[in-house]
Amino acid sequence: MSNLHEECGVFGVCAPRQADVAGMTYYGLFALQHRGQESCGIVVNDDGLFQSYKDVGLVGEVFSAERLKSLGPGNLAVGHVRYGTTGTGGRSNAQPMLVNHIKGRMALAHNGNLTNSTELRTELELQGSIFHSTSDTEVISYIITKERIQTTSIEAAVERAMERLEGAYSLVIMSPAKLIAARDKHGFRPLCYGQTEDGTYIVASESCALDAVAAKLIRDVAPGEILVFEPGKEPRSIPTHCNQCPRTMCIFEYIYFARPDSVLDGCNVHAARARAGAFLALEHPAQADVVIGVPDSGIDAAVGYAQQSGIPYAVGFIKNRYIARTFIAPGQDVRQDKVKIKLNPIRQVVEGKRVVLIDDSIVRGTTSARIIRLLRDAGAREIHMRVSAPPFVNPCYYGTDIDSKEHLIACRHTEAEIAEIIGVDSLGYLSLESTYKLCNGTASKGFCAACFGAAYPTATPRAAEKNRFEKKISER
Ligand code: SF4
Repeated sequence: MSNLHEECGVFGVCAPRQADVAGMTYYGLFALQHRGQESCGIVVNDDGLFQSYKDVGLVGEVFSAERLKSLGPGNLAVGHVRYGTTGTGGRSNAQPMLVNHIKGRMALAHNGNLTNSTELRTELELQGSIFHSTSDTEVISYIITKERIQTTSIEAAVERAMERLEGAYSLVIMSPAKLIAARDKHGFRPLCYGQTEDGTYIVASESCALDAVAAKLIRDVAPGEILVFEPGKEPRSIPTHCNQCPRTMCIFEYIYFARPDSVLDGCNVHAARARAGAFLALEHPAQADVVIGVPDSGIDAAVGYAQQSGIPYAVGFIKNRYIARTFIAPGQDVRQDKVKIKLNPIRQVVEGKRVVLIDDSIVRGTTSARIIRLLRDAGAREIHMRVSAPPFVNPCYYGTDIDSKEHLIACRHTEAEIAEIIGVDSLGYLSLESTYKLCNGTASKGFCAACFGAAYPTATPRAAEKNRFEKKISER
């Protein structure tokens, strides 16, 4: 319920023979819709002939049966769902991005944010490049294309381009004959691949998208790895950039962004969230009658808190799942109405009770305050809020829209003040120490937790700060 957004979801198909790769991509993107709802697109490759369509809207809105059919059969495809954190929204930034160059064509789909995109864009513009969008994806496309002119293969171009790219990127790239998957050397954003029974290889941001097309997860793409897929051949790994730096997967993927049924880098998201709830029960016990979670990502942690504490779990809120993307409220007053329409407490569960309320985060505090008010109005006697993440104290530069410091409530107030502002009887956040243990329960596996006060895994990008500022200005 954080109102935070992941930037994107990517999907790729490499079938051994001509098949309905557009249909497979459609189902895969449907499963990844939670990673981006602004725009989506699919590019199909039939023996070097590219057919593409992309537009603003949800996957189900953009692609009708006729539209999918018009993309035709093929043996390679890439797809993308987008929520823009860099650059403005709209059609020009929709992906996959298509590039024609002297050695052929390329389609590229990207998840993450570069931390040196402004420098790269300036360099390219000085060399004569003309940009049609404001997204990092076009910068990556041009860097790869530039290398492609001087190299003998697309994978060699990607390998060389990765020496220039800094920050977070999980890429799916399609050339006339190949599908390439690549993940930045830190592994900020997830990327995995699997195979269907008929030998079709699938690449996706999350394993839930493999499940959607009946593909079995093989493994995650390793940080820094390039994987090359060609129809009818075994995938080939290029590990040149692997192990160049510590793995720092985004820990907030497990807490909020990813789907609970996904397995990221070997760790199931539901299990990680339930573990967060169990740790919370140990760190911040409460005398209470019932544990409830804020849908969706607070639910798994609430189950974990209940199991650890022995306090019964109950469904406390019903979420209206039919609120469309068009229901976007720009002002604070309207935002409050949005919460009311989106969530409704079940009076019979909370009335007269001492309630433990679990949510994944508190950003500005506005949404939390409204949820607390709904519970009070429904008759909750006491509310003990527990948050399955540490307080946000820093912005994110790696592909999410965690806000600048002046908007983060934990940067301006103590926990006691926040409890008073949002109207709870007690408040407890998960410790950073326990957050590092979400995936195996005992020790850190190598995560980014910079927004929670840990060190940034890369140089702090002043350029990225500038991008964020420009985006905010363009949205006013
Ligand atoms: Fe994830 Fe926070 Fe790191 Fe961004 S700063 S990558 S949201 S852990």
